[in-house]
Amino acid sequence: MGVLLLQSRDNRGRLYIVSTGPGNLLHMTPRALKALGEAECVIGNGFYLDLVMPMLAGKEVIRSSMGREVDRAKKALALSEDRVVAMVSGGDAGIYGMASIVLEVVERSGTAVPVEVVPGITAAVSAASRLGSPLSGDYVTMSLSDLLTPWEEIERRLDLAFQMRVPVVLYNPRSRGRPHNLGAAIGIARRHLPAETPVGVVRNAYREGEERLITTLGEFEDHFAFVDMHSIVFVGGEETRIWRDEGDERGIITPRGYHRKYVY
Ligand code: SAH
Repeated sequence: MGVLLLQSRDNRGRLYIVSTGPGNLLHMTPRALKALGEAECVIGNGFYLDLVMPMLAGKEVIRSSMGREVDRAKKALALSEDRVVAMVSGGDAGIYGMASIVLEVVERSGTAVPVEVVPGITAAVSAASRLGSPLSGDYVTMSLSDLLTPWEEIERRLDLAFQMRVPVVLYNPRSRGRPHNLGAAIGIARRHLPAETPVGVVRNAYREGEERLITTLGEFEDHFAFVDMHSIVFVGGEETRIWRDEGDERGIITPRGYHRKYVY
């Protein structure tokens, strides 16, 4: 079995870290659904638990609030000593999600509970599909949340990322606690990219309240109010363009480069 299953044990406890994708069951993998089905106890943030509610009948459900991730990880590990536990995490658990803190807690505890990380569709990927194909080649993801990373470090990385002039995806773009981070990030983008660079925003990809916005770097500031913590922002690279059809914006495309090789 996988590298995380270090020892064989007699008791049947185990811990799944289950990625729940963007927010509906159709976009979870069969493996993730099976792990949830097997679990006796499911623990997670209330928002993500609600999204998988149809899978939770008959199980013990433990709701934990945002900002309590370390306690949640410790609790999940304690429960998994003798029970099958699933910790749910939105999108992909390994991308700005719960997987690393759970693994660190397991590592520090020295327990031999088997742990499996079940992958899922991260927001960059699900939301990209709602815009067309904005990430067809190399791209960068960044989180604008400075809860766990100092803001100066985020600014340093943003500057390097936008210098590459490849698409940059901004997770955690705007919340009440940090309303100005998005403006600062877009200011850094403007140092390296022209005003007509495409920008796409998807709010609530594949869940209730889904909306999208297509604009440009130069005009984005007028639309900051559209962006909230359930949104993800795509800033195009130097080759990214808006696909227009009789004035309507059909989507955003970053060509992979076929036009350099073929006629079509
Ligand atoms: N582990 C998650 C990311 C958690 S960070 C993943 O892999 O997707 C939370 C941020 O992810 C949000 O602020 C938002 O920027 C983005 N996000 C998560 N789900 C989303 C969705 N369905 N639609 C749009 N953005 C989403």
